[in-house]
Amino acid sequence: MMMPQDIDLILQEALLYGRSFLSRGKVADYIPELAKADPSHLGICLILPDGTTCRAGDWNVPFTMQSIAKTFSLILALQTVGYEKVFSKVGMEPTGDCFDSIVQLESKQLPPFNPMINAGAIVTVGCIDLPDPFEAFLDLVRRLCFHDAIRLNEQVYLSEKHSGLRNRSIAYLLQSDHILEGDPEQILDRYFRMCSVEVTTEDLARYALILANDGLDPVTGGQMIDEWIVRIVKTLMLTCGMYDESGEFAVKAGIPSKSGVGGGIVAAAEQGIGIATYGPVLNKKGNSIGGIHMLEYLSGKLNLHYFANKTCTSV
Ligand code: GLU
Repeated sequence: MMMPQDIDLILQEALLYGRSFLSRGKVADYIPELAKADPSHLGICLILPDGTTCRAGDWNVPFTMQSIAKTFSLILALQTVGYEKVFSKVGMEPTGDCFDSIVQLESKQLPPFNPMINAGAIVTVGCIDLPDPFEAFLDLVRRLCFHDAIRLNEQVYLSEKHSGLRNRSIAYLLQSDHILEGDPEQILDRYFRMCSVEVTTEDLARYALILANDGLDPVTGGQMIDEWIVRIVKTLMLTCGMYDESGEFAVKAGIPSKSGVGGGIVAAAEQGIGIATYGPVLNKKGNSIGGIHMLEYLSGKLNLHYFANKTCTSV
């Protein structure tokens, strides 16, 4: 049985290891506001099922969720319109292409492959049948992160809205093929807002804790998300959550995870452990380079791989 101070030490080691890769990547700049992030930042938060919270580095620096929002919008769509409707509009397969690719849309491989790529997420957001989908989304994020003060980063939202031409192309292509129902501009506006919600690693680690415990909050004992929804979300995180690096990350870390170009990664680990990392320097695939290396390190150290030998739990 590990003590919190043992885990603190391991997080420090992970941080050191992650930092050694920071010079090999760069901060996202295709959304101008994201380019302002400090490339030296790297942080992590890990929460055990009993609520013990371990933090290291720049764990408290706020960042926008970006693609991590896709896990929340999938939960909301499944909750509001159900499995059949959502998966009649979007598939469940990894793409092998980058997150904002339009190749498959143009070659009529429809519907979009999965809800973790931009095309699939835009369709998923379009499915959410509620009077104010963004407010419902924000409410869900606040509840699952246990943090009422979580809010939209207005500057990032406006920056993305003004520079999001590829996403606009995706939405109109989807509309022309009758996949996207409703006004593309309105759906895009919701999608941009969702991506621009600001969190810290502790917020996301709290959410990861719930995912890691099949929707149950082990601290309060409350069922926060239906188990069948968590199973779908975690499966898609494992197979599609790390862009076109999902296969390699599944082999090396084996933790259902979702990254965002803002530098965050949310990771729902074995043994009911919730983890989140932040480091805005990205590798060529768009994943936080410090984050993936910290998670790979922890997976080995704490036996967190999905297919690890379950008889030797180490935490
Ligand atoms: N808001 C970003 C976009 O649509 C999200 C991309 C990401 O984090 O992968 O381009």
